[in-house]
Amino acid sequence: MRSKRCSCCIAYKAESEFNRDSRKRDGLKSCCKTCHQAKHRAYRLANLHDVRARGRVASSKWREANHEKALAIERRWREKQADAKGNRERKNRPTRAEQRPIGS
Ligand SMILES: [Zn+2]
Repeated sequence: MRSKRCSCCIAYKAESEFNRDSRKRDGLKSCCKTCHQAKHRAYRLANLHDVRARGRVASSKWREANHEKALAIERRWREKQADAKGNRERKNRPTRAEQRPIGS
């Protein structure tokens, strides 16, 4: 198996440890998957506000473009919530013995 040096952690790793990048001459990213993930996480944490704002814009755009689909997903979510709530209530509901008033 061929190996390549990661430009971030300077370690030699198998080519399978690198994500693909068609723009690169060898077709692989210069940072290994581990470093890429760490970088991605750090970026996300440092720009959480922007990342979330972008996500909101993207999802609202998607919702506009896929109105029917979005409605169906929302409906399914609501049903699931109602189901979960029903189960919770059923679980906490007193049994028949407990419901009987004392002394009857
Ligand atoms: Zn690395």
